[in-house]
Amino acid sequence: MSAKIIDGKAFAADVRARVAEQVAAMKADHGITPGLAVVLVGEDPASQVYVRSKGKQTVEAGMNSFEHKLPAETPEADLLALVAQLNADPKVNGILVQLPLPEHIDEAKVLAAIEPAKDVDGFHISNVGLLATGQKAMVPCTPLGCLMLLRDQLGSLSGKNAVVIGRSNIVGKPMAQLLLRDSCTVTVAHSRTADLPDVVRRADIVVAAVGRPEMVKGDWIKPGATVIDVGINRLPPAEEGGKARLVGDVDFDSCVAVAGAITPVPGGVGPMTIACLLANTLTATARAHGLPEPEGLTA
Ligand code: NDP
Repeated sequence: MSAKIIDGKAFAADVRARVAEQVAAMKADHGITPGLAVVLVGEDPASQVYVRSKGKQTVEAGMNSFEHKLPAETPEADLLALVAQLNADPKVNGILVQLPLPEHIDEAKVLAAIEPAKDVDGFHISNVGLLATGQKAMVPCTPLGCLMLLRDQLGSLSGKNAVVIGRSNIVGKPMAQLLLRDSCTVTVAHSRTADLPDVVRRADIVVAAVGRPEMVKGDWIKPGATVIDVGINRLPPAEEGGKARLVGDVDFDSCVAVAGAITPVPGGVGPMTIACLLANTLTATARAHGLPEPEGLTA
């Protein structure tokens, strides 16, 4: 048996097209253009690539993109002042402060300063609480993307045994909350979990968000299970002069032979993250104006 390979790239393109369609309708029917502000402090090369890509895809979806690039030595007070200005700006519906921030800036303080209704990353403590209590929240983009892929693959998730490996605030914990909300029986595993392979073997759904290359092996997987690999690990080239390899937290070759469906790395969860950022910006805009929730783009 060989698993179905879940094409996250194609699914993300479909999500972006649905966002663009609903943005066009919002403009035509209500004269509203959603706006996303992205703030980058410093010159981290990976962050610069992400921010460029976010800006490009925001504009392609028909939304306004506001980019704020600040020097690495920007004082914390100046960044907080910019966040306050964006909170107050009615043209800005979503605010994303690109992480990591330089060391002299208190990340938690900055995230707490973002207006929760504009917190399209879903990291504000109010959104964490709303999600945990089953209320309307802004949901972190990567877990939202995983949920969309799972629903598309399996339909109802109700009653499924789900194991989330990883308990970070940005992936593992919100993922577990979302699966619980969809009536899965959820186990959250982490570095202290005893007999991890045994725990994973009970799962109909496995979400791996660990940051350890190819850790989850094929003989951990229940035959037919759906495997979502969030991990992005860069390995050195296999041979001298070769290219660096990108692998997930799942050992794809052994798991693809056992699973029912599996996301590849790259081309699985990765492209869903920015697509969900656009979906969240549309959702935040709709809520700000008392319009109905965007169809099929929320948790
Ligand atoms: P963190 O480092 O914040 O969390 C990793 C989690 O994995 C921790 O909870 C840790 O447990 C657990 N863990 C570590 N080692 C083991 C082990 N041997 N067995 C079981 N659990 C273990 O990572 P993130 O959640 O931020 O990211 C996880 C992965 O997802 C990374 O590869 C990252 O690059 C990727 N990622 C991908 C995104 C995308 O867009 N596709 C977005 C965000 C992240 P403990 O808490 O006990 O230390």
